[in-house]
Amino acid sequence: MFSLSTPIEKAPRINAPLANKLKRLGIKTARDLLFHFPSRYEDFSNLKQIKELALGETATIHGVIKKIVNIRTFRKKMFITEAMIDDSTGTIKSVWFNQPFLAKTLKAGVKISLAGKIAEGPKGLYVQNPAYEKIENFSQNIHTGGLIAVYPETEGLTSRWIRFLIKNYIFLVENIEETLPEETLYRQNLWGIKKAIREIHYPGSKDGVKKAQRRFAFEEMLATQLRTIKEKIKLKDNLSPAIKPNIELIKKFVLTLPFKLTDAQRRSLWEIMQDLSKSRPMNRLLEGDVGSGKTIVAAASSLLTAKAGFQVAYLAPTEILASQHFATFKKILSEFGVSIGLCTSSQKKCLIGGEAEEKTLLPKFIENGLDIVIGTHAILNDKIKFKNLGLVIIDEQHRFGVEQRAELTKHETNNRSIIPHFLSMTATPIPRTLALTIYGDLDLSILDELPKDRKSIITSIVKHSERNEAYEFIRNEIKKGRQAFVICPRIEIPAGETNDKGMVKKYQQKFFRAELKAVKEEYKKLSENIFPDLRVAMLHGKMKPKEKEAVMKKFAGTKDKHETDILVSTSVVEVGVDVPNATVMLIEGAETFGLSQLHQFRGRIGRSEHQSYCFLFTTGDEDPGSRLKAVVHAKNGFELAEKDLEIRGPGDVFGIRQSGVPDIVLKNLNDPKLLRESRQEAIALTQKDSSLKKYPTLLKKIAEMERVVHFE
Ligand code: ADP
Ligand code: MG
Repeated sequence: MFSLSTPIEKAPRINAPLANKLKRLGIKTARDLLFHFPSRYEDFSNLKQIKELALGETATIHGVIKKIVNIRTFRKKMFITEAMIDDSTGTIKSVWFNQPFLAKTLKAGVKISLAGKIAEGPKGLYVQNPAYEKIENFSQNIHTGGLIAVYPETEGLTSRWIRFLIKNYIFLVENIEETLPEETLYRQNLWGIKKAIREIHYPGSKDGVKKAQRRFAFEEMLATQLRTIKEKIKLKDNLSPAIKPNIELIKKFVLTLPFKLTDAQRRSLWEIMQDLSKSRPMNRLLEGDVGSGKTIVAAASSLLTAKAGFQVAYLAPTEILASQHFATFKKILSEFGVSIGLCTSSQKKCLIGGEAEEKTLLPKFIENGLDIVIGTHAILNDKIKFKNLGLVIIDEQHRFGVEQRAELTKHETNNRSIIPHFLSMTATPIPRTLALTIYGDLDLSILDELPKDRKSIITSIVKHSERNEAYEFIRNEIKKGRQAFVICPRIEIPAGETNDKGMVKKYQQKFFRAELKAVKEEYKKLSENIFPDLRVAMLHGKMKPKEKEAVMKKFAGTKDKHETDILVSTSVVEVGVDVPNATVMLIEGAETFGLSQLHQFRGRIGRSEHQSYCFLFTTGDEDPGSRLKAVVHAKNGFELAEKDLEIRGPGDVFGIRQSGVPDIVLKNLNDPKLLRESRQEAIALTQKDSSLKKYPTLLKKIAEMERVVHFE
């Protein structure tokens, strides 16, 4: 018997090559086929008589084929199939390109339904490349008339074919089990699953499409929220060390800084101190625009934790950043007698009692209670054991979750786990509702002001013909003692190819090679032709960590002495790097970057009392378009992130594509009503039964989501 779960290659009418194509679309069973939803619809609901047809409209007509012929164009490169269609009110020509087989399947005398655009040729109106289907054998039209589903396709498998397959298997919808509880369907006025699936493939109206899509978006969003609520409940079951607020210590720390904290920094630090003082784990997100001074807040929290006798792990996304934070912490915490370690895959260092030295023994020191460990993912990968970890700080990365935190430490006390407090930091402004949905019940602290002495950065778009002027300007800045970054263009992985894991790997390699080539060429050009008299260096992802570190060191230098004037780099410098003396940011191929990324780059400058400049170089001389103009005019990252959200959608902006959150949720993250309603529903269900055992289909769904995340 053929059922929903039968492997697709065993299904009638499906041979091995077709099954492979379907698998490329992620379709492995008949069930998957029914859940292969259209990406859009063609509106062929305008059913017309031939005599009423008007130029430019899209219409469906029913008629009989009078004549059909194939013609070869004079250059013999193209086949044109022409048919005369008659419907008793008139005749019209129908024209198809490069589908010569049509003259075989559609013969004179066949009754046909055509849908397409009405165009005008020398001999009058004709239908251009229409969708078609024979009328005699349709019990249900699937290609013409009404709203016609257009599916995600793959090479050799068209929407037309997919429509045909789905028509053959749609009867199985009767066996699909309802996933949402009856009460939810009722409360939220949602369609049942069978009706929604039918409607999504064969919609009766545009409203029907919306209602069906809403049902599925709601379902996924509900499951996502239930998952985060469950995590929160689980988290509350744990204990964390209560770290007493030590106001005296913080006051002393603040006095050693060369500046005053902003009010926002003060407020956030206060909120963190409150959380740390409790024996429940803190789960806080510190959001602040680039340059708003998150590091100081992190340092103060670390100091507090260390002085209370607990360890701190500070995780950064790149080695460059980790070693930079190490240097910063070394400097600003020098008077407080805390021991600090650096742990990346290529470097292990530690600083104990003011003496910095290379230490291969770092893991041992950590096990014995080294106060603060700064590093990359290596801290997790190397399975480093902590003696008593009290606080985990994550810089610019939201992908660490509860599980990784648990991985770092696990002590059991009276059957309850003791886990560290958790502070995550980001420069991307995540709206609260969204944070709740995706990251569980995070508490938010927001740095909504920049340090007072900041001059705003002057940003301009530089067309190809204006380059030399910009180069001269940069030369002048460098003569004044300043430094410059040059960022090379991003090389795109072709969209659509990235679904397939094997492909991603292949393209990533290609991408790295192309990026490497770009940075080398740019470096050669700048160091040999444009600035032969200046000190130019290069930085890219393929360099060994030690080399990167050395290059960064020379560029960062000390307060009044550095060894590199211009740093040519790929997007490695994107996040976090802090070189206050750099006042110029030149971005090549600016149009290849996302808005938030450009803002991140720009955030590398404007970090001192000197006026800073950002040049967005475009490849041509055309109008740069509204995107780049938005970067010039936006006052802050929050404003730009909103724009970016409109353009790229939340999945890309917040880097949550890979977090196991379903696509349909990502697409709907901009819908505050849906977010709110699904959240209310999630709360209602968990209040009735926090274990969710009453809702087995939902539990199954959540378990599947978790499985996906674990596989990543
Ligand atoms: P981000 O929030 O982007 O991580 P950083 O923490 O790197 O920003 O801080 C950017 C720069 O601003 C650093 O050089 C830091 O020393 C400086 N800074 C931080 N807080 C203040 C402040 N309150 N006043 C002046 N400068 C500050
Ligand atoms: Mg930072």
